[in-house]
Amino acid sequence: SRLVNLIEDVIRISHMDEGVEIPREDIDLMAVVKEVIETLQTAAQKRGISIRISGDHCHIQGVRSMIYEIVQNLCDNAVKYNVENGSVDVAVKRSGKRTLLKVKDTGIGIPAERQRRIFQPFYRVDKSHSRATGGTGLGLAIVKHVAQIHKAELELNSEEKSGTSVVLTF
Ligand code: ATP
Ligand code: MG
Repeated sequence: SRLVNLIEDVIRISHMDEGVEIPREDIDLMAVVKEVIETLQTAAQKRGISIRISGDHCHIQGVRSMIYEIVQNLCDNAVKYNVENGSVDVAVKRSGKRTLLKVKDTGIGIPAERQRRIFQPFYRVDKSHSRATGGTGLGLAIVKHVAQIHKAELELNSEEKSGTSVVLTF
């Protein structure tokens, strides 16, 4: 199933590289967040991780399937690289003309010298931990790519053993 996952991710990335004109849809970002969190709730509860959602129903223009992919990858990471009984905060906010998506976790964090590389395809910080949690290392490469396509700004803040926060500004 990991192989199928990997192949699907690769196909998705290659489609994005074709440079085709992307149709823009009106997307309720908060609705996407709620949909994604629903799918992660069982995995989170198993490890005592609580997920909080806050903010408003902000609308953005973009490709819904791609935006879903971003939210899914960021929230999945926030749960997957968290600690027992940790927490995840997802916020959707408007700031002037901008819309912010913030995903914050109380997890294992990313060492400063690795933070640039985690956006490269297939890069994973801890191979043993990563193997145990599954995944391909393509998630953040997709996030970065999709953010660029949507002209969104991506910001990562992380501290080892303390947690990570990713802010995406549309
Ligand atoms: P995939 O997303 O393809 O299932 P993945 O989660 O390993 O696999 P990425 O989402 O690209 O791949 O993340 C790359 C690496 O960055 C991860 O393997 C992990 O080491 C690190 N990482 C990503 N998000 C976090 C986070 N919130 N906290 C700590 N480490 C993280
Ligand atoms: Mg991931």
